[in-house]
Amino acid sequence: MVLVEDEADLTEMVDAYLSREGFRVLTAGDARSGTAVLREHGADLLVLDLGLPDCNGLDFLRGVRAGKHLPVIILTGWSSERDRVVGLELGADDYMIKPFSLAELAARIRAVLRRSTPAVADPVLRHGPLCVDTASREVTVDGAPMHLTPLEYELLAFLAAAPRQVFSAGQLLPAMRGFEPGRGDVTSVIEHVYRLRRKLIAAGARRPRIVTVRGAGYRLDP
Ligand code: CA
Repeated sequence: MVLVEDEADLTEMVDAYLSREGFRVLTAGDARSGTAVLREHGADLLVLDLGLPDCNGLDFLRGVRAGKHLPVIILTGWSSERDRVVGLELGADDYMIKPFSLAELAARIRAVLRRSTPAVADPVLRHGPLCVDTASREVTVDGAPMHLTPLEYELLAFLAAAPRQVFSAGQLLPAMRGFEPGRGDVTSVIEHVYRLRRKLIAAGARRPRIVTVRGAGYRLDP
C-alpha cells in the first residue's frame, strides 16, 4: 500500500505500525512523489491525506480515480467535513479523521482490501445437469462425461459462463481463436455450435440448450 502524507511524524508512525502488522508500506510526502511511487510500484491500496503541500488531495484523488481501480482511504481533519464528503463522492472507500487510532486504520485497511478483492470465481459452471469444470476442462451431463473436441469445449465454456446472453458468431470466434490463434471463421463457428448442440441433446441434456436467436446469434438457455 502507498501512504501519501506530508506530516513526517505521522508518516513514520503509520509506516512502523502497518509494517509490523504485515503490510508493505511505501510512503510519499507530497502529491508529486505520490504519483511517482504509484506509477513506479503500483499499489493495492492508497491512504491519502487530503491536505497536501503541493496539491489539493481531492485533485490528487480525482487523478487516481481516473486511472485504474485503486481502493483509497482518505485522511482528513475534523474541520474538513466537506472534503470528506467530496472524497467519498470521488470514490474514496473510507475515511479516517485525524487524530486516529493506528489499530483502527489497520482494521479499516483490511476491510477495504477484503471488499475490493473479488471473490475467487468458482471454476465449475453448473446449469441443470450440465457441469463445465473450467479448471480440469471436464464436462459432464448428470455426472456422465461428455466428449467434446477442444473447440467445442471452448464454445461451451464461453456460452456457459454467460447464460442467456446472445453472442453472434463473430463474437464467439475469439473463443475459438483463443484456442487456435488465426484459425477459424464465422462459418466454422456455426458448424461447431451445431455439433455442440447435437452432442448436448445426445447426452440427454434437455436443459441447458443452445438456442439460435434469428439474426442475432446464439445463447445458452439454462
Ligand atoms: Ca497534511
